[in-house]
Amino acid sequence: MTIRHLFLPFLIITALAAEASAQEFDKYFEDRTLRLDYVFAGNAGNQHIHLSEALSGGVWAGRRHNLDTVCLEGNGRLEVLEKETGKVLYANSFSTLFQEWLSEEEATKSDRAFENCFQVPWPRFPVDIRITLYDLKGDVSASLTHPIDPSDILIRPVPESSPSYKYLIKNGEPSQCIDLAIVGDGYTEEETEKFYADAQRSVDALAAHEPFTSLLEKFNIVAVAAVSQESGVSIPHSGIWKKTLLKCHFDTFYSERYLTTGSLTAVYDALSAVPFEHILVLSNTTVYGGGGIYNSILTCSADHPTFPKVLVHEFGHSFAGLGDEYYYDDGFNPMYTPEKEPWEPNLTTLADFGSKWADLLPPGTPVPTPEDSIEKENDVRRIWNSIPEETRKRLNSHLGVYEGGGYLSKGVYRPVQECRMKINECEDFCPVCTRAIFRTVSFYTSTAE
Ligand SMILES: [Zn+2]
Repeated sequence: MTIRHLFLPFLIITALAAEASAQEFDKYFEDRTLRLDYVFAGNAGNQHIHLSEALSGGVWAGRRHNLDTVCLEGNGRLEVLEKETGKVLYANSFSTLFQEWLSEEEATKSDRAFENCFQVPWPRFPVDIRITLYDLKGDVSASLTHPIDPSDILIRPVPESSPSYKYLIKNGEPSQCIDLAIVGDGYTEEETEKFYADAQRSVDALAAHEPFTSLLEKFNIVAVAAVSQESGVSIPHSGIWKKTLLKCHFDTFYSERYLTTGSLTAVYDALSAVPFEHILVLSNTTVYGGGGIYNSILTCSADHPTFPKVLVHEFGHSFAGLGDEYYYDDGFNPMYTPEKEPWEPNLTTLADFGSKWADLLPPGTPVPTPEDSIEKENDVRRIWNSIPEETRKRLNSHLGVYEGGGYLSKGVYRPVQECRMKINECEDFCPVCTRAIFRTVSFYTSTAE
């Protein structure tokens, strides 16, 4: 029995639910997008949410079913509420760079503000919007509820940007498919063709990795050739700052390879011409780096030799909410605490393992599961290519509850010994990550099979 077959009952139930909720969509929403821009601000002890602007955009690219549920918990939630009853009409979950920053030492000493943009379907009537941020224990750390009247004359149309764009994969209408937009940073006008070639390599990278190979038919992928003034992106550790449209830079939180942008408004503005749900930002640089934040944004350097692997790993984060399965021996990261089950589907603290891959575990599997000697005694990244294929396969697919994951060597457990979410050398996702990606696609399309 393949993994796909194991999920069939789940998929059939979602498909039935979809029919009913499609009617709900038309009752409450129009085929149009409401964009909400916020500033999340504060410090480690105190956070605030401020609405900066509401904008009206093009057709609604998101789902029209599963409206009041979220695929994964994430670190925050945005909800559209019926005014009179408080009924949730639409919900989505997300994580943010702001919340990552809250774990940095800097956040104990100073306040900062971060841009965030979200899209919801256009309400037919005045509604309330509730936005909630959760702390590392899952408790509410900040919340804002504000009204939105769709007839408000101050809702500004999303500023028109007119970059050229090209569909690299078009499998259907935005209402039927998952819409991924690829946009470039640090590409000058003369580099437009290079951008399109790099965007095509992104599609090729996804197509080369299961389960995306099988699931690409559920996607539309559009490449948007945004133009930057200068070529390349900013590399603060080398003293390089570039004038680029989306302001991508390395050294986020002083981590050299952490490539992000804080200018989400610029990213959303650049995508105004196309319907989209997920964003991939390609940085025109050879320097190693990337970052993926769940339901927010993926950034990746286009010209490093590891590009395809890094891109697929980061897409695991930004699209499917997968956690990092790697860890450091002396690692300290407050992201995961023993009493809270992480929401990432491929990590567990055993606080609620039944909600994770317990159902896939061979009977009698010891917890924690002892590692194979090859894993225990070696840095497998260095010897990966010399390991016999059968052994590599076992390391990637033999399910257990292996201690070490989520940056911590103790107290956090991963499903296999090696996975695409652990090391660049391992090409394949493990069965648990694979299932999580299937479930995500199913949640958005209801018809994945
Ligand atoms: Zn995995």
